[in-house]
Amino acid sequence: MLLRHTLPEVKERKALTINPAKTCQPIGAMYAALGIHGCLPHSHGSQGCCAYHRSALTRHFKEPVMAATSSFTEGSSVFGGQSNLIQAINNIFTIYEPDVIAVHTTCLSETIGDDVDQIVAKAKDEGKIPEGKFVIHASTPSYQGSHVTGYANMLKGIVKAFSKKGDIPRDQLNIIPAWVEPSDMREIKRIANMLGVNFVMFPDTSDVLDAPQTGKHVMYPEGGTTIPELQTTGDSKYTLALGEWCTKAAAQDLDRTCKVGYDMLDVPIGIKATDRFVMSMSRHGDVQVPALLTAERGRVVDVITDMQQYLHGKTVALWGDPDTLIPLVEFLVDLEMKPKYIVSGTPGKKFKAKMEELLKDAVPDAKIANGPQADMYLMHQWIKNEKVDLLIGNTYGKYISRDEDIPFLRMGFPILDRVGHSYFPTVGYTGAMRILEKILGLFLDRQDRDAPEESFELVM
Ligand code: SF4
Repeated sequence: MLLRHTLPEVKERKALTINPAKTCQPIGAMYAALGIHGCLPHSHGSQGCCAYHRSALTRHFKEPVMAATSSFTEGSSVFGGQSNLIQAINNIFTIYEPDVIAVHTTCLSETIGDDVDQIVAKAKDEGKIPEGKFVIHASTPSYQGSHVTGYANMLKGIVKAFSKKGDIPRDQLNIIPAWVEPSDMREIKRIANMLGVNFVMFPDTSDVLDAPQTGKHVMYPEGGTTIPELQTTGDSKYTLALGEWCTKAAAQDLDRTCKVGYDMLDVPIGIKATDRFVMSMSRHGDVQVPALLTAERGRVVDVITDMQQYLHGKTVALWGDPDTLIPLVEFLVDLEMKPKYIVSGTPGKKFKAKMEELLKDAVPDAKIANGPQADMYLMHQWIKNEKVDLLIGNTYGKYISRDEDIPFLRMGFPILDRVGHSYFPTVGYTGAMRILEKILGLFLDRQDRDAPEESFELVM
């Protein structure tokens, strides 16, 4: 038993986190920055932070993740990192030639109190930022928030740097996805193209972190939202923001500075959330929903109908990010499953209220927690007291799955021990079908494994 020290008795903890259900802010900032074409993320802190953030993304995506660092030493830790950052900006533009450097801070540079806006302005005054190149910035102290907050903060930095109101309004929508996989970003674009709307989506990590193997190393892969595209977002007619924790602040800034109104939607996971996304796009883009997309939806409904007996009443424990957990729980309730335990390490007052609203009729006694003490240890304690039929979450759940012998669907960040997440979407109707297929596969495999010989079924 790997987790044999987990005690079933749940005691309130005020400070201690054991096996957190989140990771650190700069990882989110780095991921969002990689969704801009020609962008090199830059970690303003020590080399160790940058190495960790890069390796976390590399292990999840199985792709090389490029990023630079201010390489703080003892001196910069005491006197501040201004000279390191200015030298880094000069070196990076000279050697690696990105279009944008996206600087995020770390615990160390935030504690010192480095004023990155002032340092970047100084670098510009000193001629270290070439004409037509950009340095953008997000504040990402990791002693608060999570990777989700870091993603949201970098999106704010992107809007601040590039979204300006021009003279000519554009017949296009902005689509801002929350932290989802490159496959999901590709699927969101596919749906938007099926509807025939003009749109700019940012960030867009498809063709960056799922780029094909060509035998040649490319520093800046083909994908990512381009700077000219980003510069038009202030003239778009509307924004669809997908996932409140990750995208609301950026959508609000676009509204405040450029008067581009926004629809705050969920990430389109499951049938209802995808319906809302599609209908919002249809309304604001003034386009019809094509029959082909309606047929995709119908196929998901058909599978649910055919296999309902294997889903009904099954209990689930989930952990992950609020923006994906909320629509996923809604989908599970639609499948007549029972999300029983839910934890998210990401803070945010609305999380519990939203979950309670979704579960009030289906699972009124569901246990829900978020914030620093909503960790994998608490999740395991709940499961020890009463088992569930299925686990859904990132790779860190594999210990609970093994110790408690519970089927496990890997979903979220990070997934360190399987592939597929960056290539097959979980958003849209296609993604709903994939989630369904995976859940059913786990349940049917388990039924086959445990069935006595006389009820081992050929047809299920
Ligand atoms: S938690 Fe802070 S110190 Fe640790 S890796 Fe993240 S930014 Fe660096």
